[in-house]
Amino acid sequence: MKAEILAVGTEILLGDILNTNAQYLSKKLAQLGIEVYFQGVVGDNEDRLKEALELSFKRADLVITTGGLGPTKDDLTKETIFDFFHKPSVIHEKSLNSIKEYFKKSNREMPDNNIKQAYFPEDAIIMENNNGTAPGCILESKGKIIGVFPGPPKELVPMFEESFLPYIKKFTKGVLYSKVLRVAGLGESKACEIIQDILDEQNNPTIAPYAKDTEVTFRITAKANTEVEAKKIIEPLEKKVRERLGENVYGVGNTSIEDETAKLLIKNNLTIAVAESCTGGLLAGKLINYPGISSVFMDGVVSYSNESKMKRLGVKEETLDKYGAVSKEVAMEMAEGVSKTMETKVGISTTGIAGPTGGSPEKPVGLVYVGLYIEGKTSYIRLNLNGNRQKVRDLAVNKAINYLRRNILER
Ligand code: ATP
Ligand code: MG
Repeated sequence: MKAEILAVGTEILLGDILNTNAQYLSKKLAQLGIEVYFQGVVGDNEDRLKEALELSFKRADLVITTGGLGPTKDDLTKETIFDFFHKPSVIHEKSLNSIKEYFKKSNREMPDNNIKQAYFPEDAIIMENNNGTAPGCILESKGKIIGVFPGPPKELVPMFEESFLPYIKKFTKGVLYSKVLRVAGLGESKACEIIQDILDEQNNPTIAPYAKDTEVTFRITAKANTEVEAKKIIEPLEKKVRERLGENVYGVGNTSIEDETAKLLIKNNLTIAVAESCTGGLLAGKLINYPGISSVFMDGVVSYSNESKMKRLGVKEETLDKYGAVSKEVAMEMAEGVSKTMETKVGISTTGIAGPTGGSPEKPVGLVYVGLYIEGKTSYIRLNLNGNRQKVRDLAVNKAINYLRRNILER
């Protein structure tokens, strides 16, 4: 199979941005055994894009475009391609709902412009965008295939790995096998820096990072004749990555930090009680989501007022007076208190300022303390989180769970 990559965007022609998408895609296609003889760049212009498509399809069976799927008028890639293939488009309800959901999650009103991103021909194979608004698509027509991707690499890479690879597999020889390592407690740039040489050297297997809100994942993909062989190729690279990232690698594949932490609690028979102020039950909810947690989860208290902190958790009045409810001292007394009243091995607590009001220069919005009591030892972490109320609470829960996980492992 022969393929061409066509980057769409005047920004690239002007030299404002580097065409890293082409590099990524070329590497991936080479690994699949798909030959790439030409790469192109074309501006955001309908006629020239059609000309480029015409030429590319004369030489290749597969064309991959990147960019120009945004909501504005100058984003015309999709419309031009549909027109090129004489395929009228209709609204794709599922995509429209996902876009609406995306805006809801980021607490923004969806502009009407974005509706255009949900239009596709009826026979298009839609590629979901879990990291932005514009879905991509695959079209098949008269033995030719086009893959249409958004421009931002953060959106394109996961879409390629999650949706395009499974699709294109049937056209390539051998098998592709992937393993996803999930990393918590390190930002994307830090995690990549630690394994930069591994990222630079990659060939087969390849390794692709991508970052979500609270975690980074590394997808290791190998191509081989059989799955057993592919797994073998992955092993040494995985080992190297794990050696570098250590306990920050919390899991493999389809899992979450809360599930992995719940498993650790159960495995180590660590009974737990939770006392939450600013996270108001979210932390308990995350742990309880894991089936089987009942063998260790004893109690969850939403302890919002100072009265409750004193009456239910035994936090001392003088501690509250001296340091305030949002303090490491109170967080630790909460964790100790909840574990004592429930006679558990572990107690964990949160207290913080979720905002949007209630902050001060010394204690700004987003300041959260997590207290942890674990088998006789009490500690805390101090977090400075950004975002609206919901985001601060979600992030606090995620960091608290990771803190718990690390402490169980390092006990
Ligand atoms: P958006 O919805 O953000 O407008 P889009 O699919 O319309 O996305 P473009 O408008 O073409 O994509 O590009 C958006 C951004 O994505 C660019 O500013 C740039 O940061 C990045 N980008 C686009 N094309 C490439 C490329 N070929 N290589 C690397 N980055 C790119
Ligand atoms: Mg755009």
